[in-house]
Amino acid sequence: MLVLAADSRSIARAARVLQRGGVVAFPTETVYGLGALAFTPAAVARIFEVKRRPQFDPLIVHVLNDAMLSRVVASMPHAAKALGERFWPGPLTLVLPKRPEVPDLVTAGLSTVAVRMPSHPVARALLEAAGAPLAAPSANPFGSLSPTRAHHVAAGLGDEVDLILDGGRAEHGLESTIVAIGSRCELLRPGAIEAEAIEAVVGPLDLPAAADSRAPGMLPQHYAPATAVRLVEPASVPAYERGSAAVLALREEFDGYAVSRRLSPAGDLREAAARFFEILHELDGLALERIDVQPMPEHGLGRAMMDRLRRAAAGRRL
Ligand code: AMP
Ligand code: MG
Repeated sequence: MLVLAADSRSIARAARVLQRGGVVAFPTETVYGLGALAFTPAAVARIFEVKRRPQFDPLIVHVLNDAMLSRVVASMPHAAKALGERFWPGPLTLVLPKRPEVPDLVTAGLSTVAVRMPSHPVARALLEAAGAPLAAPSANPFGSLSPTRAHHVAAGLGDEVDLILDGGRAEHGLESTIVAIGSRCELLRPGAIEAEAIEAVVGPLDLPAAADSRAPGMLPQHYAPATAVRLVEPASVPAYERGSAAVLALREEFDGYAVSRRLSPAGDLREAAARFFEILHELDGLALERIDVQPMPEHGLGRAMMDRLRRAAAGRRL
């Protein structure tokens, strides 16, 4: 597989791969994305193949600027304009009415499309060089941990990706926040932008019904390491259960576990989010029996991390 440092030469090369219908993994400010030309269904189909992603699951389209945005969305309601002005370029995805030209494969046949304008310089340079919107989900096998480094992509998807651009660690380390824009705004997935910051612009967000499975981030089990994850207060775990497990907490360390890791000794949720998937990848690689995770405060980015952890823990028999 081809992993190249993300300089201007390799970005130009990646754009040529895309234009030939290939798939390229690239860094964004959230996690690494697996991109293909959004308007080329055969290229988009390869994303599903490489990720082993069920086809009912719609993709996020990445755009460079307003000109590219207008090729994808049919209209920008007032709330979308306000959110775009405040948070774009950045880790916010908006679900908006789509233009008919957007392939059904991208939107899973929905009349809406999820779009975002990334801020990462490599993602932007790639969009500019490709000259077209890119459909790009996270660059990992469906349902598994999201990749925050190029080597996570290489380990998860390997030779099936045509080219991996290595741009170092993804800054936020959590997926974008997804908001559906309708008569009211709905929080489809908590993510790298705190729901509170979005509510400061558009007022209170609705939460979709639990049974709604428009976003796989909303599937009961997702974002899961191979190792079983358990959300538990580590202090209450008996000593005999600790030796074969790792423990992960926001700020504390715990004795008796095979490995104890913390996300941010200062309790800074932003720092914690940036390291979140990376540390889960590392703990998963130890092939222990279990990863015990201490619940985090459910505000700001803590809410997005708890959302991922609940799904990682779902459906596991321990
Ligand atoms: P990922 O690219 O893996 O971060 O996931 C993209 C997320 O956006 C998924 O949860 C999708 O289901 C969601 N999504 C994409 N398009 C739409 C849409 N038209 N309506 C609702 N959710 C969407
Ligand atoms: Mg994903």
